[in-house]
Amino acid sequence: GGGGGGGGGGKEFGGPLGAAAMVAGLPAVCVGLYATCSGGACAALAPPAVPFALPPAWVSLAGAGVWLSWLLAVLGLHLGLPGRNVRGVRLAGGGQLQYKMNALAVYGVALGSLFVLSFGLGALDIGWAADHFFELQTASIAFSLLLSLGLYLKSHAPGAVLAEHGNTGNALEDFFMGRELNPRIGRLDLKEFCELYPGLIGWAGLNLAMAYRQYTQLGRVTNSMVLVNVFQALYVADALWYEPAILSTMDITTDGFGFMLAFGDLTWVPITYTLQARYLVDHPQDLSPGYLAFVVALKVLGYAIFRGANGDKDKFRREPDHPRARRLKYMNTERGTKLIISGWWGLARHINYTGDWLMGLAWCLPCGITHVVPYFYAIYFACLLIHRDMRDNAACRLKYGRDWDKYCAHVPYRLVPYVY
Ligand code: NDP
Repeated sequence: GGGGGGGGGGKEFGGPLGAAAMVAGLPAVCVGLYATCSGGACAALAPPAVPFALPPAWVSLAGAGVWLSWLLAVLGLHLGLPGRNVRGVRLAGGGQLQYKMNALAVYGVALGSLFVLSFGLGALDIGWAADHFFELQTASIAFSLLLSLGLYLKSHAPGAVLAEHGNTGNALEDFFMGRELNPRIGRLDLKEFCELYPGLIGWAGLNLAMAYRQYTQLGRVTNSMVLVNVFQALYVADALWYEPAILSTMDITTDGFGFMLAFGDLTWVPITYTLQARYLVDHPQDLSPGYLAFVVALKVLGYAIFRGANGDKDKFRREPDHPRARRLKYMNTERGTKLIISGWWGLARHINYTGDWLMGLAWCLPCGITHVVPYFYAIYFACLLIHRDMRDNAACRLKYGRDWDKYCAHVPYRLVPYVY
């Protein structure tokens, strides 16, 4: 899902003041990451030296043009390629929406074309995106703001179904949280499209551009760069493979489409998640076989936990008679839904978050351990997941009452068995 996203009530983000702080602060973080880590300079772990470099150009017509062309190309592929129609969850008003889904096909064609045109034929210097990264970032921030403004205005059209939390009456808060639940243009669902297509695929595309720039500069691609590209490309492929699963997430069912998701999907993900590959262009690393094996093992472990836990819960809830679900021990609750207390879910109450985080750490480790900024993802994601675990724990205590305390006695740890 979207990086900045993960909704809930507007109040959880501090009301109008919090919304204002996020609208100004999130783009500022993107600028800050560039300022403290770009070119040859990057904030070091020790001694604590923090460089501050701003880009040669802040905005450019070329940057805006390339950014917009990417968006339109991905949109064209989504509309033009065949896809399957999937029905969303039942809406509060009783209706159900149809979604055209072909993210994996769009991903394959888009990334495959970039790869063939650059590495294969040498016909397109996609490394341009690495050289003009900041201009692309500015274009993306500007577009995210304009889109959110457009969405806010559109939400006032008659008949728009509004999100519960994005309808406080405070313009700033509603602009941030998102007022309309499922804004559409014809049959194109703007929120679902932005959640999975341009930003996630753009992330993998930008990583590839970084790899290509390293290739044109060094004459080869380092093993660390390959690792970051492969890890993250697989993560995107995995998310797109499970495209229908997005329909039951909070982002789709509950949150409106406003600045939080628009910025998260279109800017935060492709700009901040490409930091490791961007770092490796200026600081190439050749990893020793031992270090490489360790990083791969960590990634595999993280993936096994992440998929194992999420898959167990999905099977257990949707197909309780499946052999995979039947081997799990569970606890009955007064609310009627059962809670798993064995397997992955017996180790910690959000072991799925821990698996996700371990994968994130494995993305940062190929950058070596001299600089701190490439670890931004692991640090930010740890904060996000700890906060999300606390929110979910509070929500479950409300949903399950005393049963939740019984469950916590069975599974006492939140994220890390025997530690936390
Ligand atoms: P979960 O998939 O952990 O879902 C939590 C809900 O599951 C609870 O509210 C409860 O709901 C149910 N549940 C909790 N414990 C049990 C149990 N023991 N047995 C059965 N059901 C249980 O949360 P998320 O949707 O937050 O996360 C899903 C995945 O997405 C995670 O792997 C996470 O890492 C990832 N993620 C990634 C983000 C990113 O930016 N990359 C952001 C957010 C999440 P109920 O009982 O009502 O069904």
